[in-house]
Amino acid sequence: MEDLTTASGKRLAPYAADPARSRGRVHPESPPQGRDEFQRDRDRIVHSAAFRRLEYKTQVFVNHEGDLFRTRLTHSIEVAQIARTIARQLRLNEDLTEAISLAHDLGHTPFGHAGQDALNLCMQPWGGFEHNLQSLRVVDELEERYGDYDGLNLCFETREGVLKHCSLPNAARLGEIGLRFIERRRPSLEAQLANLADQIAYINHDVDDGLRSGLLKVPQLMEVELFGRHHRVVLERFAQVGERRQVYETVRRMINELVLDLTACSQALIDAAAPGSIDDVRAAPALIAFSGEVGVQSLALKQFLFENLYRHYRVVRMTSKAARVVAELFEAFVDDIRLLPDEHKRKAERDRHRAVADYIAGMTDRYAIKEHRRLFSVDET
Ligand code: MG
Repeated sequence: MEDLTTASGKRLAPYAADPARSRGRVHPESPPQGRDEFQRDRDRIVHSAAFRRLEYKTQVFVNHEGDLFRTRLTHSIEVAQIARTIARQLRLNEDLTEAISLAHDLGHTPFGHAGQDALNLCMQPWGGFEHNLQSLRVVDELEERYGDYDGLNLCFETREGVLKHCSLPNAARLGEIGLRFIERRRPSLEAQLANLADQIAYINHDVDDGLRSGLLKVPQLMEVELFGRHHRVVLERFAQVGERRQVYETVRRMINELVLDLTACSQALIDAAAPGSIDDVRAAPALIAFSGEVGVQSLALKQFLFENLYRHYRVVRMTSKAARVVAELFEAFVDDIRLLPDEHKRKAERDRHRAVADYIAGMTDRYAIKEHRRLFSVDET
């Protein structure tokens, strides 16, 4: 077997995804020049319309609430950064990890989880709405950029990583790409890694954004082991720098600890299982994981954020408004598809509910608000 090297010049591990042995693309294409298959996937994702729209979509805060909060775009870049760092240490394929990280949120609706829950509720009689499945739909079908096919025609390994979760009925409909959910097999280590890098990124940036917004307070967070442990050290060493910088110092230390723990623990799991190929990885139990103690602590932080930030009354007020916007848009378009822009109307003539869901899911926060105003306010056009 030919030796593949990582960006740092180390040999790619035998269990890493190898672009030369990819399971390929749905529509066969000539090999790329000057880059490999996973680099090409990463580049296609970066150039997609859905990727650009991530700039105006949010996870927790609605886009217009403040210029400093994370958007799905900056979140995705943070995920890619964390995932690449760990991939390099584990001698995994950095390009594939990056491609999956950058694409993982492409299917998200406007207004974060509130938008997704509202759309899922609207779509219940018609197969529901799952954001992971929608991310796959974006790269497989909805992007319209190439003359020969719909979608981005990505490699199997990239698509496998993008489809992080999937309900069993939907998995059964998907064919090859859904098979692992039915057979209970794992995806590549690159995909497993992107998934946990996502968690590291969001629990840390939500602490940062939560404090900056004033919805969270430092004394509350001191009760959370992971934050409190690092923040006490920071307070001692940097008593004079002011709270904002102390919080940055703490968050940076938390990210560092989670990254180092995930790297060390995963390496130990990989060494013990000794997979000889990506197929061995798929058949093995999950091999990318935190150590027990750090896993418990990161879960506790996640739980804290759930109770204190995502359920904060100011967030709930905003998300309930957002959910209403999504539900009202859905109802109006489904009732009268003539209200849809032409390209979406044509699709709605074939599959009314799915086409409306696709149109709404593709909206940015501000576009959804504008569209809602255009439909429901008589003095808007
Ligand atoms: Mg994410």
